[in-house]
Amino acid sequence: MIIGIDLGTTNSLVSVFRDGQPRLVPNVIGHVLTPSVVSLADDGSMLTGLAARERLATHPQRTVSNFKRWMGSDHEVALGNRHFRAEELSAFILGALKADAEAWLQEPVTEAVITVPAYFNDVQRKATQTAGRLAGLNVERLLNEPTAAGLAYGLQERKDHSTFLVFDLGGGTFDVSVLGYFEGIVEVRASAGDTRLGGEDFVQTLLEQFLHETDISDTDRQMAFANKLFWRSVEQAKRDLSEKDSTEITLRIGDHDITHTIERGKYEEYCVPLLQRLRRPIERALMDARLRPEELDEVVLIGGATRMPMVRQLVTRLFGRLPLRTINPDETVARGAAIQAALKARDAALDEVVLTDVMPYSLGIVSSEEVNGQRYFDRFSPILERNTPVPVSRMKVFATLEDGQKTILLDIRQGESPTASENLQLGTLEVSVPPRKKGEAEVEVRFTYDANGLLEVEAHVPLTEKTVSSLIHRDSQVMDETSIAHALEKMKSLKIHPRDQQENAWLVQRAKRLYEDHLGHVREIIGHELTRFEVALDTQDERVVRDARADFKSFLDNIDRGFVL
Ligand code: AMP
Repeated sequence: MIIGIDLGTTNSLVSVFRDGQPRLVPNVIGHVLTPSVVSLADDGSMLTGLAARERLATHPQRTVSNFKRWMGSDHEVALGNRHFRAEELSAFILGALKADAEAWLQEPVTEAVITVPAYFNDVQRKATQTAGRLAGLNVERLLNEPTAAGLAYGLQERKDHSTFLVFDLGGGTFDVSVLGYFEGIVEVRASAGDTRLGGEDFVQTLLEQFLHETDISDTDRQMAFANKLFWRSVEQAKRDLSEKDSTEITLRIGDHDITHTIERGKYEEYCVPLLQRLRRPIERALMDARLRPEELDEVVLIGGATRMPMVRQLVTRLFGRLPLRTINPDETVARGAAIQAALKARDAALDEVVLTDVMPYSLGIVSSEEVNGQRYFDRFSPILERNTPVPVSRMKVFATLEDGQKTILLDIRQGESPTASENLQLGTLEVSVPPRKKGEAEVEVRFTYDANGLLEVEAHVPLTEKTVSSLIHRDSQVMDETSIAHALEKMKSLKIHPRDQQENAWLVQRAKRLYEDHLGHVREIIGHELTRFEVALDTQDERVVRDARADFKSFLDNIDRGFVL
């Protein structure tokens, strides 16, 4: 069985294709969303998911979230006295999801389709595959997140020439992609976005609205900003306002409460500047895809923040139609990944559909150009142009610039600037040529870009019949075989927190977080209940633990809801 994985910045999901449809696999706590958070527990074992997320506040030095943004870089994160790359941290999450899928399916899982943002470059894609490998998963196929969303909404079952726009507003980023379906091929025709705009900005705006409308003192204001509990209640209020016309927010300063009612209408006025910022990327994506809004067949909403009515209204207004949002926006990408996994395994329930994407950027080499007898260096010479459907292979011929030149250095770059140095360097490849007069020794450079967005460069010298090739990666940033082997050893040496104890671990961490958040009487009760639960755990009697867990969970739920005893 091949599983589908949405490896998200905030949350990850795993899905399988069963009985003719994609199904989300619950984790051991029974949730389909597993927080993409990793924490090194005090006993040296690795915690993932909810239990780890609870430790973000209580053990910030040993806990990490949001590591997807470091994918494809050599940034290392210290947890305690150990260091981890984004691939390794992601591997812990992938390993947990793999274990959840295995428990659910009752069979071993060794292969996965993992989704990545459409804008991920080949280094980031390679890193995602490596993360899979470290988790014991073979990842032959990566899938662009918007393409996955298109699949979940059945784009591949539409008539030829259908186009979808995928509008993805997550916690911290905004992405717009235009997908096209043509002759059995789904492709990303254009993508644009804003990496600094997401649901969190709406929380910030609501918090500022509260402070403005309550007109509190500067000192209280600063205390409010630093108060984690308050942030959490504003986040909850934002979610409430997706369902209700008004909600209350309470800020506790010292021993007095400031309670204020927020009206949705007023909140939406405060959010106008944020809504304005959503327009630009949409316009850019449509322009790149050469489409007018009315030419789109469907507009699809994904990402938790599209639950806000004002966002849906904006989209409805901009496109003159209701967007598709029948699938839970958090789950759409994972469902699409399961469909792709089934396509790969050729599940009989699905008609065969070829899936391709387009190149998200141009790839080429640095060259020079002669204009009116003058030579201009630092020119970018694209070999594969942006938006070409993949897989693709193209060849271009380059020649020596000087008499007697013995080598040609191919400087491989990715980007859209005509000035080569402004584009991202992916690697270099040195090619030996026999010394000849300038322009006489040639090299045929072939770029092959596969469906996973990985580039292979091949250079053939006709004069010598010699060929050199290289799978391109930026050396320092892509893990080579030796460092992968090393990381695999390291993973083996680390204890993974036992899966069957994850729920208990989560409750303990959650209680510790709540203990830190509260003071006085409430804190005392939390401490007391935690001890009681730990005593129950020590009995190792399954029934005692199960009963104690149920009680402890509802106790913590009440505290989280603010029902102070
Ligand atoms: P994602 O990265 O797709 O999981 O999106 C998470 C973002 O969606 C966060 O900023 C959440 O606050 C936001 N979100 C989730 N549910 C809601 C809701 N009901 N109303 C408003 N925002 C929500």
